[in-house]
Amino acid sequence: MPAQKKKLNRACLVVFSGGQDSTTCLHWALNTFTSVEGVFFDYGQRHKSEVLAAQAIAWRVKIPLRLFRLDFFRELKGNALTDSSIAISSETGPMGLPNTFVPGRNLVFLTHAAAYAYTKGIHDIVTGLCQTDYSGYPDCRIDTLKALQKSLHLGLGWPERHGVLRLIAPLMFKTKAESVRLAQKWGAMDSLALSHTCYEGSVPPCGKCPACLLRAKGFSEAGMADPLLTRLG
Ligand SMILES: [Zn+2]
Repeated sequence: MPAQKKKLNRACLVVFSGGQDSTTCLHWALNTFTSVEGVFFDYGQRHKSEVLAAQAIAWRVKIPLRLFRLDFFRELKGNALTDSSIAISSETGPMGLPNTFVPGRNLVFLTHAAAYAYTKGIHDIVTGLCQTDYSGYPDCRIDTLKALQKSLHLGLGWPERHGVLRLIAPLMFKTKAESVRLAQKWGAMDSLALSHTCYEGSVPPCGKCPACLLRAKGFSEAGMADPLLTRLG
């Protein structure tokens, strides 16, 4: 058996959506930290499939998962993920982004996660953000993440002796195919069988929306079957 990597003897908080990338990152965290907790944001998603997937996976890997409601995005409208009157489309709008872009979502999630982590004395926050192979969302870029990390560290007044606040994105520069291979390496496949990606909220997934297509492309390029599709047969 290969030697086990020594884990960091502290806790981390995973921003967990029950989707493919955050599930893969959750398993990276389980391999890296001695203690792992999750946080899920209910921001008015079109469907309940995400929270059900997140809870099933958290239960499977035996981590505590805290749910918070963020009603602001529910009221914001204007994007296809929180406004069911808008059909999901990968066509870019006047701002040059698809209508699935929820403005500020990841900035708000990470800021709330950092505030929650602060109350628990946790200074490592793990996110599935990835700037490769993505839909061009500006809040998924490394520059955004680094700037936010600095803002949060300063804004929370985190004492250096307690460690630097870190926003960690293990998949930031990985293609979807590389993410699939890492998921296997990190032991995430059984959890991915319970994950949810489809923008339409369909179970089994619709196979046609941009999120389903991107997921399928990753598994196809990695030469592996998607355990979610295998499970649902
Ligand atoms: Zn879909």
